[in-house]
This record gives sequence, structure tokens and C-alpha cells, in this order.
Amino acid sequence: MYKKEENEFRTSAQRSHGITVTPCSYHRTMKRCTKCGLSKPPAEFYAVKGGRDGLRGDCKACHAARAKAWYAKNRVKAIANVKRWQQENAEHVRAYRREHNASRTREIRAGHLRRTFGLSLDDYDAMLAAQGGGCAICGEQPMAGQSLHIDHLGDVVRGILCIRCNNALGLLKEDTELVGIARDYIDCGGFVTPGVYEARELAVDRARGLVKGSG
Ligand SMILES: [Zn+2]
Ligand SMILES: [Zn+2]
Repeated sequence: MYKKEENEFRTSAQRSHGITVTPCSYHRTMKRCTKCGLSKPPAEFYAVKGGRDGLRGDCKACHAARAKAWYAKNRVKAIANVKRWQQENAEHVRAYRREHNASRTREIRAGHLRRTFGLSLDDYDAMLAAQGGGCAICGEQPMAGQSLHIDHLGDVVRGILCIRCNNALGLLKEDTELVGIARDYIDCGGFVTPGVYEARELAVDRARGLVKGSG
């Protein structure tokens, strides 16, 4: 720790009257900035290798002011320096940006999950794992770096779905009767009563004829 000599903290009046001052323990640990001359606690100085107390001579405020002044004067040069460094270290910069973007994306997603569903990323991962790692209906797995849709009804999370299955539920109005009819329709190859059958055949023939006619 930086040691202060006796009398170092005397005011000018104390000095001119020859009054001796023994610094208290607080002031003994204080360090005087070589720039502004103010005495400040050691935390107000940046560390530097070498030097008797391991701290810079100028305080953080003075150091920041000097850096700011230098930047104001050398703005163009400073920006060019950064650009050049980035170009010379393109791979490093790309890796950093990738990493930064990925963690930012994860942060945004975590915030969205928490605010919207009260879920954490771990909750989501656990839910998806419990579904076998894919859409709860069709089983489709999320693409790398992407996530599936959290299906919810009001505040209640029902499961994790791919976009298609999620849309399908909405398009069928979440109506189990409609879903059942749609399933029967698919199973039966369409609903065609005998009277309509011929009309359908005719329509198909016409369509074929049209295709031939135009080709
Ligand atoms: Zn200072
Ligand atoms: Zn699906």
C-alpha cells in the first residue's frame, strides 16, 4: 500500500503556520494523483506493472479524460486503427462476432421464454427431451440453431410444436370434430357419394382433355 509521509495532507494554512499533521489511517492509504493533485483512495487508480505501489500515477478520472481528449483529436486515426486491426484479424473478429451473436440470441430467447411463459431455457430443453426431441405431433426435429414453437393456450403451455403442426391446429380451429372429419376424409380418399361420383369423373376427364388440348 502506498505510504503517505507525515504532513503530506497539510492545508496551506497549516503549512504556513508550521503545524504538524499526522495523517489518520484513511489518509495514510490515500494516493495523490500526479495530474490533478487530488488525494484519492487506491481504487481510484488503475493498476500498472512495475512502479512502487503497483498503481498508475494519474487517477482513473484523469486517465479517462486524457484518453477521451486523445480520441477527440485522433478520431479518424483511431477508427482507422481499429478497422485495420479488424482486417488483419478477420478470423478472430468473425469468431468473436459469431460467439457474441450466439450468446446474444440465447439471452434474447431466454428473456422471451421467461417473460412470456415463465420458462427457463433449461425448462424448454427438458420439455423437448421429454417429447423425444421433436415436434409433439409429427416429431420433426428443430434445425441447428433454431427452436420449435411453444404451443400455449392462454397462460398454459401445452407442448412444443413445429410451425406446420402449430398452424394446422389453428387452421382446423382447434376443433376435434373437424380434425376427426379431416382424418376420415383422408382415410376414405375423399367423401364421394354415388351421385357425385360421375360428376367427379367427368371433371377429371375434362381436366385431362384441357391438359391435352393446351399441350
Ligand atoms: Zn487525477
Ligand atoms: Zn410437427
